[in-house]
Amino acid sequence: MQRQLTCDTCGWSRKAQFLPWLKAEEHLAQEHQATVDPSAPAAD
Ligand SMILES: [Zn+2]
Repeated sequence: MQRQLTCDTCGWSRKAQFLPWLKAEEHLAQEHQATVDPSAPAAD
């Protein structure tokens, strides 16, 4: 079960099997120096 992550800002995409929100957060932080909405679901 994989999720396809895409970034509308730069066109980045990636498949993530685990923690897709974390991958997206990493991308935003590294490429866009942005933070992610903390209300996003966070599986502990
Ligand atoms: Zn991006």
